[in-house]
Amino acid sequence: MKTTHVEHIGIAVNNLEESVKFYEDVLGLQCYGIEEVKDQKVRTAFFRVGQTKVELLESTDPEGPIGKFIEKRGQGVHHLAFATENLESTLEDLEKKGIQLIDKEPRKGAEGLDIAFLHPKSTGGVLIELCENKG
Ligand code: ZN
Repeated sequence: MKTTHVEHIGIAVNNLEESVKFYEDVLGLQCYGIEEVKDQKVRTAFFRVGQTKVELLESTDPEGPIGKFIEKRGQGVHHLAFATENLESTLEDLEKKGIQLIDKEPRKGAEGLDIAFLHPKSTGGVLIELCENKG
């Protein structure tokens, strides 16, 4: 598998607008996009920090993955996303190695990236997202 960099860090928040304000006013970052990802029942806000981004995630449905995460654990770091190449064949390789996949096939995530999640049970407790930018 070829991993090139940390694509983004996903952070679950209660209120997107309030959190955007924190990242802008306190950390001096600039939000460059807010997008709803219906598939994942979230609204996202993105910031660039060098080659890496911060992705804030606000739930749009208590039954969605971020809604459930926040109910269980509150706001905080939700997942770590690595940029990778050849996502489809990478997933096949990982499955052969016995890594538990949440997504066996790539699907569309925010910003038009192809994404897939690995199960924290197979990764030492971290929800890992793999992203491929084919654009
Ligand atoms: Zn993500």
